Amino acid sequence: MAISTTNPATGQVLKTYDPMSDEQIDGAIERADLAFRQLQGTTIAQRGEWLTAAADLLDAERDETARMMTTEMGKTYAAAKAEVTKCATACRFYAENAEKMLADEPADAGAVKAKRAFVRYQPIGPVLAVMPWNFPLWQVMRFAAPALMAGNTGLLKHASNVPQTALYLEDLFRRAGFPEGAFSTLLVGSEAVEKVLSDPRVRAATLTGSEGAGRSIAQIAGRELKKTVLELGGSDPFVVMPSADLDRAAEVATTARCQNNGQSCIAAKRFIVHTDVFDAFAEKFAANMSALRVGDPMDEQTDVGPLASKRGRDDIHAQVQDAVDKGATVLCGGEKPAGEGWYYPPTVVTDLRPEMRMWSEEVFGPVAGLYRASSYEEAIEIANGTSFGLGSNAWTTDPAEQERFATDLDAGNVFINGMTTSYPELPFGGVKNSGYGRELSATGMREFCNTKTVWMG
Ligand code: NDP
Repeated sequence: MAISTTNPATGQVLKTYDPMSDEQIDGAIERADLAFRQLQGTTIAQRGEWLTAAADLLDAERDETARMMTTEMGKTYAAAKAEVTKCATACRFYAENAEKMLADEPADAGAVKAKRAFVRYQPIGPVLAVMPWNFPLWQVMRFAAPALMAGNTGLLKHASNVPQTALYLEDLFRRAGFPEGAFSTLLVGSEAVEKVLSDPRVRAATLTGSEGAGRSIAQIAGRELKKTVLELGGSDPFVVMPSADLDRAAEVATTARCQNNGQSCIAAKRFIVHTDVFDAFAEKFAANMSALRVGDPMDEQTDVGPLASKRGRDDIHAQVQDAVDKGATVLCGGEKPAGEGWYYPPTVVTDLRPEMRMWSEEVFGPVAGLYRASSYEEAIEIANGTSFGLGSNAWTTDPAEQERFATDLDAGNVFINGMTTSYPELPFGGVKNSGYGRELSATGMREFCNTKTVWMG
């Protein structure tokens, strides 16, 4: 895949980059290793100052950074601005809280016959971050901010369609004051990942992306005995029970499916509705989805911009077509528009069956699958009947049912009566084929730390 910026709203290639040579890659790894040693001589407070400076730069440069992201991958300008702000907030959160998150944790010394026993969290070295285009700033920041605060360094291999955002990130951390090499962008294709991850100076890897990329990186890391955190795809359930506030559920369902033009790992993708409220919910949901304005992502009135690539649009249209050919019903959308740009209308498909691709595959675009369940048990069976387990959503005002959902949904997170979102304060990650390990919160920061036990007799 060429490393280039192609505007998804027009299909025009705007800028192409040559991949880095082996010598350039080696130089970047060397600088990351040196910077790692240099960071060991800095305090958390110093790193916090640099990260706060990065937050200030993000705030000051919000609009032009957002325009760059919209041009590279098609998210709406409004969503891109919100993403920049979210990154600045996360930088400040880690700058302010890292001291607490990395503090020594005393253990019960008496129980282990020591004068003193505790756990110390120490950084492990340069970490390779392989990142996707869908939240081109946020996906990187949620790794970089805690990793740099812990004293690790980062080597970013970003998706090949967002090179300008990738270069901006390297420049951002340098301007904020971090030492040369503390955070570097490798302009390389995915074929270079094996060489980088096999280098003894690179200590670990984090990937957000597809299941295939996850398996490949886990295989290399397994061979090299290196730690990985994998944040892969999802096919999140959104369950609506009879006691739910249907208007609110239908409103949030629409946002949860179509945010980021439908290209989010934690977008709600399968809407599982109790039969008692199925027709009422379906009507409201399809009306909301049809009312969304699809168009130029730079226009402030637009709700849904183009998909990031032609392949992405072809893939979701093929999934919809497959379902229709096998007997599914389209409640709205489902037609590929003519004209330039990789647009796709918000679409609701129902009467789905296991032999249809949409039943088991992730749909990475504004297409919702609507399922009917006749009981709580059936809703859980459909919700968990997927190889993925990233986020999940349940709508019910019954406290006992809320507790049951919290336990029974087989996913890395459960949101009750609200939209699945990533927060710097809360761990984020999945189970099953959605990956393993956690990002964000103290748990995420410690993924790339040596949890060192210290015993003093
Ligand atoms: P990919 O997994 O292909 O891309 C994500 C990152 O991984 C990119 O930097 C990519 O580089 C790199 N990569 C791809 N294949 C390999 C590999 N074999 N070894 C090492 N690195 C690799 O995702 P796509 O953009 O192609 O989207 C495909 C699917 O991925 C989506 O339909 C969705 O299921 C999932 N996805 C999930 C996301 C999430 O947030 N969980 C985000 C984006 C996609 P390069 O761009 O150079 O290929």
